[in-house]
Amino acid sequence: MSLNEAGRSPANSRWRNRVVIVAAAIVFGGFVAVGAISPGYGLLGFVILVLAALLANRATEEAVRLARPVAVAERSGEPLEAVIAGVPDPVIALDRNGRVLTLNESARSLAPALRQGEPVSLALRMPELIEAIGRAYATGDEQRVEYSERVPVDRWFEVIVKPVRREPKLDMPDLVLMTFHDLTPLRRVEEMRADFVANASHELRTPLAALSGFIETLQGSARDDAKARERFLPIMQEQARRMARLIDDLLSLSRIELNAHRRPDTPVDLVPIVRQVADGLQTLARDRGVTVTVDAANAVRVPGDRDELVRVFENLVENALKYGATGRRVDIGLGRGQSPEGEQEARISVRDYGPGIAPEHVPRLTERFYRVDVRESRAQGGTGLGLALVKHILNRHHGRMSIESMPGAGATFTVYLLLDTTVTTEKTA
Ligand code: ADP
Repeated sequence: MSLNEAGRSPANSRWRNRVVIVAAAIVFGGFVAVGAISPGYGLLGFVILVLAALLANRATEEAVRLARPVAVAERSGEPLEAVIAGVPDPVIALDRNGRVLTLNESARSLAPALRQGEPVSLALRMPELIEAIGRAYATGDEQRVEYSERVPVDRWFEVIVKPVRREPKLDMPDLVLMTFHDLTPLRRVEEMRADFVANASHELRTPLAALSGFIETLQGSARDDAKARERFLPIMQEQARRMARLIDDLLSLSRIELNAHRRPDTPVDLVPIVRQVADGLQTLARDRGVTVTVDAANAVRVPGDRDELVRVFENLVENALKYGATGRRVDIGLGRGQSPEGEQEARISVRDYGPGIAPEHVPRLTERFYRVDVRESRAQGGTGLGLALVKHILNRHHGRMSIESMPGAGATFTVYLLLDTTVTTEKTA
């Protein structure tokens, strides 16, 4: 507070009022005492003087209060800057003429061409945004505008243009605050959802169309054709199984997503799980002429959900048997190591010696419905959701997976899960 303002504080004006009352009392009391005026006129004079002094004081206070907005507006640059600097979203404050009063670091990196004191329209060449600023000043109402950028990457923003009166007495807004909300993650999720629904519908529609076709044929031209019935029924059964597998995987995916934020905490030993998975897939391995080996000495305990972990290794070993069968061998290894953060972790690798995966496909394999060769995946009974399920389960377990592959030299899928440190190492039976 400046000295000037301190002189007009409420405490000071109360002090001044008291002085006026005492002085008036002394003067009129004196006049009455010496007989210059009658007591009645003395009292009347005293009251008039005191009232006049009080009213004059009130008027001065009001004038000071009204004058204050100007003082605040003149000095408001710094506090405004400090407040805006503390907001995580990009924020730009404009004066009445659309010039940049101040902006924070996030706004600076969003629009590096913005300069303090320059019109915002020079740096943000978006007519809809400039119009919104004009409307905000003219109407005093908040405006919302969405816009997107294509370069360097696709990004979407919502800008909230808020006219602000820094003092309630002002009849016009004296600044406009522009706050940018990044809608990109939201839009990406929306796009992913739309793609997912389209993909799921497409995947279901194909077997459904095949089934309908066969049913029509069996009801029509092949009604009494026993041979056709014999030929069609196993195909129909396979299509129905495909639909069932897809629905099963979709339901599993949504169940895991529902529990995504709850990390499982029951200690489970991975060795019997992996052995059980390898045993369960023996028939498929035999059909494909593949030998499966499991290399595990000690128990490997992790906090986890047993059924979900069975699903992880089932998917990986089944994929190795389906896509890497030409290598004739699948090796499963269980070991321990240290995570990048220095914590003890379990490492379970599933290695095949098949054709491997070209490097451009590797980063996309865990996307839903992503397949290197759709026809081959379908022929193998794949849904394209197996590795997406694996990724989601591992995320829920705070684990991760790496994929190493050299085309022609097979593929190694390695799962990393933090060890359960509450239990000491023990021998597996
Ligand atoms: P799918 O149901 O098609 O098997 P996944 O999500 O399990 O779906 O796998 C996605 C794709 O990754 C598969 O279609 C296949 O192209 C490829 N893939 C997975 N595992 C292997 C592997 N061991 N060797 C070669 N390609 C693989």
